[in-house]
Amino acid sequence: MKNPKELKALYPYQFAGPQISMSFSRGWFSLFAQLCADIDQELGDDKRGFHWRQVKEKFGQARVCYQLAEGAVDRDPDVAEKIMSMRVQDEVASSKVCALCGRPGMIDLKPGWMLALCEEHRAQADAGTLPSIWFEGDEL
Ligand SMILES: [Zn+2]
Repeated sequence: MKNPKELKALYPYQFAGPQISMSFSRGWFSLFAQLCADIDQELGDDKRGFHWRQVKEKFGQARVCYQLAEGAVDRDPDVAEKIMSMRVQDEVASSKVCALCGRPGMIDLKPGWMLALCEEHRAQADAGTLPSIWFEGDEL
């Protein structure tokens, strides 16, 4: 899986429904793709009612929001709790992964530029030459 377009093709139901905004970081993409796979497995045969509302960056790490409809009454209540926990793990993990390249990184608390980056890309950010961390165009 190399980009959001392929991910959407694999789990179309996760990307159907009302969304606020969807921004996919290159460095965090494999974490997010794994999260989508884990959620797909957790939902089992009943995929009703789950979709992503927002994927973005906040406070230097990934922030992902979803909607899980209450409607599926026959669903194991543990499922909602497990998905919530997987989501939190994804966000925490992203704080230690470079948002551009996916190598180990950390959040620099310097004012004005709070983003998880590896050393190389931190230096680029400091120099003002960091390329966009986001997937764009026909990769989406
Ligand atoms: Zn990097």
